[in-house]
Amino acid sequence: MIDAPRQSDNALAGNKLRGVGGGDTARPHVIILGAGPAGVGAAWQVAQRGLARVTVLEQRDGFGGNAGSFDLEGLRVDYGSHRLHPACNPAILRDLQALLGDDLLDRPRHGRIRLGGRWIHFPLKPVDLFLRVPPKFALGVAGDLARKFLPESNGQPESFATILERGLGRTICREFYFPYARKLWGLAPPDLAPIQAQRRVSGNSIGKMLRKLANAVPGLKRPGAGRFFYPRRGYGQISERIAEAAATAGAEFIHGAKVTGVDCEGGRVHAVRFERNGAEQVLTADHVWSTLPVGLLLRSLRPAPPADVLAAAGKISFRGMILIYLVLEQEQFTEYDAHYFPGEDIRISRLSEPKNYSVSAEPRGRTILCAELPADPGSPEWAMTDEELGRALVGWLGQAGLPVTAPVLRVVTKRLGQAYPVYRTGFQEHLQKLDEYAARIEGLLLFGRQALFAHDNTHHALFMAYSAADCLSPDGNFDHTRWAEFRKIFDTHVVED
Ligand SMILES: Cc1cc2nc3c(=O)[nH]c(=O)nc-3n(C[C@H](O)[C@H](O)[C@H](O)COP(=O)(O)OP(=O)(O)OC[C@H]3O[C@@H](n4cnc5c(N)ncnc54)[C@H](O)[C@@H]3O)c2cc1C
Repeated sequence: MIDAPRQSDNALAGNKLRGVGGGDTARPHVIILGAGPAGVGAAWQVAQRGLARVTVLEQRDGFGGNAGSFDLEGLRVDYGSHRLHPACNPAILRDLQALLGDDLLDRPRHGRIRLGGRWIHFPLKPVDLFLRVPPKFALGVAGDLARKFLPESNGQPESFATILERGLGRTICREFYFPYARKLWGLAPPDLAPIQAQRRVSGNSIGKMLRKLANAVPGLKRPGAGRFFYPRRGYGQISERIAEAAATAGAEFIHGAKVTGVDCEGGRVHAVRFERNGAEQVLTADHVWSTLPVGLLLRSLRPAPPADVLAAAGKISFRGMILIYLVLEQEQFTEYDAHYFPGEDIRISRLSEPKNYSVSAEPRGRTILCAELPADPGSPEWAMTDEELGRALVGWLGQAGLPVTAPVLRVVTKRLGQAYPVYRTGFQEHLQKLDEYAARIEGLLLFGRQALFAHDNTHHALFMAYSAADCLSPDGNFDHTRWAEFRKIFDTHVVED
């Protein structure tokens, strides 16, 4: 589905199956499931430090998972708007800068949010807020502040809704966060767990919002505020360069390998089964490090987990997303990198223009828009054709005051089955059951966004990858105590938008 990355394609193709299951058998064998940022990051760190033999199994053709890129009409485009945030761990950022060199661009953020029918700069700027926020909205926020928001508790159980109403007041919630939440995660705010507000909304109180606003004021700015890193050849170039470095250090990558089973013997992992070219293949392993969706992995264990664990796996769900790409015969659609649509009147959550991320002048005379439409497999939107989705997008953009006037040369869509983990109230009990069961299997490690069900950024996924390698010693021992400490750090990660 994803085009193979140009630079690494040939280098890796010759490498793909060499040494798998044979040759260097003295060292422990780590099989990594998934070649998203977490998978390639761990492969690189383990191979580069010479800790073990590494094989990565990936069902698709390229690298980067949801953070990958593909070629479309002469431009590299991403799976929705992706930026590398300056909040990245400094050591990891230095590694990425060394790998990508001049290709890692340092760019100012330049987006807009649609609020009450008006456009406001994002990240927020005090002057813009003062001049452009709809008066009714400003009065509502002022009233909330005067009332010191809501009383501490109105008897409702704690949820995403109560935490944000207490932190931000009713107006911001009603006009902005609540409709956005319903659109992004497909649930009513009271049905979302409190942690969704704590981990997913970095400005979840007026104090934090004001600190963000202060970042737009010269002299008060935090380093990196209002900026982001972006690779010249699309966001996926991060994972492609890491994978290339991992392959150079000896890691094996097997693409087109859909993992179907993880076999255990005597309470420890023994082998991984996968389908490739229509045939089942098996590789033996000392360690299996999985970045696959947690429920999928638990269901693939042999012997199968007890019924209550399988039932818990069925209660963990992800929100899907349809990405609609419009190829337009026009140099540039707008000067902005992204437009955000919190309101429910417009069905998409975000629109990005990839050319504006990489400051690319190519291809001449055309640009591409990428719209993010949160939707679940099985929904009516999921079944729509490219042409229907393209027409719907043109309609929504017109409604939002962004009319598409240039000829639409092509419409392409991609569907992500697992875009966002959904933190439905009570999910933690089910997740804990899965986590505890997986932890009892010696040699099995879950990490990355889908496996830890973490609302994380790429830099968090890479931090998990480095942490996993830090816990492995060359004799094959894995330091579980240290990993437990790392897990506590992962719990403090907050998503940057
Ligand atoms: C719309 C959107 C916008 C985002 N924007 C940003 C952003 O601006 N900045 C940022 O830092 N992060 C952003 N993220 C988050 C970022 O995409 C993730 O943090 C990152 O992709 C997580 O990496 P991962 O390796 O943990 O998981 P993934 O990228 O999901 O990788 C998992 C891999 O496992 C593979 N796999 C799954 N099942 C199987 C199987 N059975 N067999 C073999 N392989 C399998 C998949 O194909 C995939 O390659 C965004 C995410 C989305 C959805």
